Amino acid sequence: KAKSAGGGCFAAYHPDMLAGLVARLELEADLRLALERGQLHLHYQPTVDLATSEVIGFEALARWQHPERGMITPAEFIPIAEATGLIVPLGRWVLNEACRQAVEWTQAADGRPVKMAVNVSVRQFDRADLVEVVAGILAETGMPADQLCLEMTESVLMTDTDDNLEQLLRLKALGVTLAIDDFGTGYSSLAYLRRFPVDTLKIDRSFVERLGALTDDTALADTIVQLGKSLGMATVAEGIEEFGQLAALREMGCHFAQGYYFSRPVPADEAGRLFLDGADAVR
Ligand code: C2E
Ligand code: MG
Ligand code: MG
Ligand code: MG
Repeated sequence: KAKSAGGGCFAAYHPDMLAGLVARLELEADLRLALERGQLHLHYQPTVDLATSEVIGFEALARWQHPERGMITPAEFIPIAEATGLIVPLGRWVLNEACRQAVEWTQAADGRPVKMAVNVSVRQFDRADLVEVVAGILAETGMPADQLCLEMTESVLMTDTDDNLEQLLRLKALGVTLAIDDFGTGYSSLAYLRRFPVDTLKIDRSFVERLGALTDDTALADTIVQLGKSLGMATVAEGIEEFGQLAALREMGCHFAQGYYFSRPVPADEAGRLFLDGADAVR
């Protein structure tokens, strides 16, 4: 790029870029230590059944409390983890901790099952052992497979298609649920969607935002809900912040929802109380 711009290759370097690179390398080294030292933890955002207003479970979301820099968001550290391969041990830790927690809450609720959704990066599919890792964690934690949902973006369907399809079929065979996260923002086609063993579509927050009082653009969210219905898939709306959005999605027949309207992602102790309190907790 620099050469074609006519500046010679030195034009590619700038002090700001070096500073950016150093910051990134530092963050990478810190993330490696954080993993080893147990400085990552999980927050949990409730998933609400729109028919009953009950909390049926949670999405586990990774948090990093950096000793000097404070809270670092997943938007910052997940891309670094993906680029460096750290996402593999990180992803394994998240899965294990989320399953362990779901089993604990299920027992505390006298067996009322806690559904747990865990984000899985497309990079975790690059390694051939994802299925074994999931199977091992289910066995070790005692998590019933049907309580675990793996969330992945459309990129999993679009890259390494044959290999990823095979892994997804094997994951399905374990009994876990598969969801497409941020659905509608990628480029997957209907053909891909039908070919893959997907159970759930998570409607991206950008479509839910359009259901706000000012814009009232229901077309896209409605299309995804109806698509889900015709393919026999459940739909989950992400990022509900207002009652109007909730009412519109309920009207469309969307099954489940998450969003600040119900609850932000919260630490484990708070999430446990939300589940035990049931429907009243998020109304
Ligand atoms: P995501 O999986 O789509 O998760 C939803 C994100 O939207 C979360 O951000 C959540 O806090 C936020 N959110 C939920 N409700 C609302 C709302 O009503 N309004 C708004 N404005 N935002 C809402 P978070 O926790 O910062 O995570 C961002 C992304 O980082 C996640 O998007 C996911 O892609 C990734 N991520 C987080 N934890 C993990 C993990 O353990 N593994 C992997 N691979 N990715 C993760
Ligand atoms: Mg997600
Ligand atoms: Mg999402
Ligand atoms: Mg996302």
